[in-house]
Amino acid sequence: MPTILITGANRGIGLELAKRYAAAGWVVIACCRKPKEARALAAIRGEVEIRTLDVAKPASIARLKAALGKRPIDLLLNNAGVYGQRGGFGRTDPKDFLATIQVNSLAPLLLAEALLPNLMKGGMKKIASITSKMGSIGDGPGGGGYAYRASKTALNMVMANAAAELKGKGISVVVLHPGWVQTDMGGRNAPVKVGDSAAGIMRVIDGLTPAQSGRFFNYDGSTIPW
Ligand code: NDP
Repeated sequence: MPTILITGANRGIGLELAKRYAAAGWVVIACCRKPKEARALAAIRGEVEIRTLDVAKPASIARLKAALGKRPIDLLLNNAGVYGQRGGFGRTDPKDFLATIQVNSLAPLLLAEALLPNLMKGGMKKIASITSKMGSIGDGPGGGGYAYRASKTALNMVMANAAAELKGKGISVVVLHPGWVQTDMGGRNAPVKVGDSAAGIMRVIDGLTPAQSGRFFNYDGSTIPW
């Protein structure tokens, strides 16, 4: 049975992905900040191990790495994310901006670095990170969401760069836009249901070939400009 490690698995898209991978027979290492409060995650049937991880804290990443030891991981799914401050130009809060970068851009890289030995032992050798079309410069930024947009643009570069560097090791690295999804972050008016987003994300990851490494995908399998 393949093993997936997913961050931010206690709610939203991460929870739905944890449910679906468990239902598909995967071993799911479901990470969240507060396992004791992760009731929906604990209720999932299947092989789900809930582990503590605050992606914003390098020490928490180090503790997770130590706990996992040399265990193989087939797929690392960086899902945890924050939106940060919603204000537009002229309202930038430096602390919030950097905190958003820490979670959305830096943490996925630190986690990939920490878990590389585990991924090398896995059969699938895949790293997928949930980005956003809001980080696409080519798609035409419409204003606002500075911290979030910049953090996802940085995530895209981090992962495109890692794809180039890890190619020789046989590891495929992609970033995925999940759609505008009905979650706490996406809000109730979002057009995409969380189940449809998760199903699409899984389909893209499942079909991922080494030749597609380094690409920016939409959840429906189409590509998005950088
Ligand atoms: P939610 O706000 O519903 O969930 C966010 C998840 O990230 C929660 O599990 C949250 O945990 C976790 N998280 C936040 N900070 C940390 C941290 N420091 N350490 C560990 N976990 C953390 O968002 P979505 O499910 O909608 O978003 C999932 C991903 O999809 C994000 O990367 C987001 O940017 C991206 N995305 C979402 C879109 C949408 O329309 N919903 C559109 C484009 C991209 P906790 O409960 O502890 O806060």
